[in-house]
Amino acid sequence: MRITRFAAAAATAALAVTALASPATADHSWGNYHWARTSNPFTLVVADNVTASWDAYLDRSISEWSQSSVLDLVETAGTTNPKRCNPTPGRIEVCNASYGRNGWLGLASINITGGSHITAGTTKLNDTYFSMAQYNTPEQRAHVMCQEIGHAFGLGHTSEDGSSQQTCMDYSQDPNSTSPNAHDYAQLESIYAHLDSTSTVGTSSGKLPRVGEDVSSWGKEIHRSPDDHHSTFVREFGGGNLVVTEVTWAN
Ligand SMILES: [Zn+2]
Ligand SMILES: [Zn+2]
Repeated sequence: MRITRFAAAAATAALAVTALASPATADHSWGNYHWARTSNPFTLVVADNVTASWDAYLDRSISEWSQSSVLDLVETAGTTNPKRCNPTPGRIEVCNASYGRNGWLGLASINITGGSHITAGTTKLNDTYFSMAQYNTPEQRAHVMCQEIGHAFGLGHTSEDGSSQQTCMDYSQDPNSTSPNAHDYAQLESIYAHLDSTSTVGTSSGKLPRVGEDVSSWGKEIHRSPDDHHSTFVREFGGGNLVVTEVTWAN
């Protein structure tokens, strides 16, 4: 179902969709988006632009996702203004700030080139909501942190109907859905089974397009979950450059 949805969405967005013939096991990848790399496991740098209230969750997500057999994460001190959270080529920026009452708890944006290759990832956690009692729980912080970082690898959701698969990539309120599960690691192995002749991982120069904090900057909405808790947007910047944004809406 996700494959079909993405095929339609991709056609709409005039993406190169040659890679959509993905393995049958690829049931929660995100539009076949992936980091290009020439060997596995590959090491992605995650830049820490978060404040103390998020540090433990970031550290935990880095540790848990690094258990994947295909990728390792290393943390470095971030240098971007968290309010802007500018993408840096070749790595993932994680930011938190009070982004305002704009309706979303978390955003994961990936810069795409050449149809499917991720060149940068940014995740933003909105303290405007996480300072409210209904969101400010260890489970919700862990769930959203883990999920938005998972999106930056090309993972989609395991479900959007509120059912629990006991993974942070589901859309449940299950207190056990705060970490990756075995299926997520298998999914990563599927997404990263092939090798590329080029690499988008690591340091490279150049300025990448960014999207902002408001819905008006994210481009076209290509998917919305039935429960209105989640959306996917695509904005085209020309020259084959896209920014795809996964949105976790507040209740
Ligand atoms: Zn590839
Ligand atoms: Zn999501």
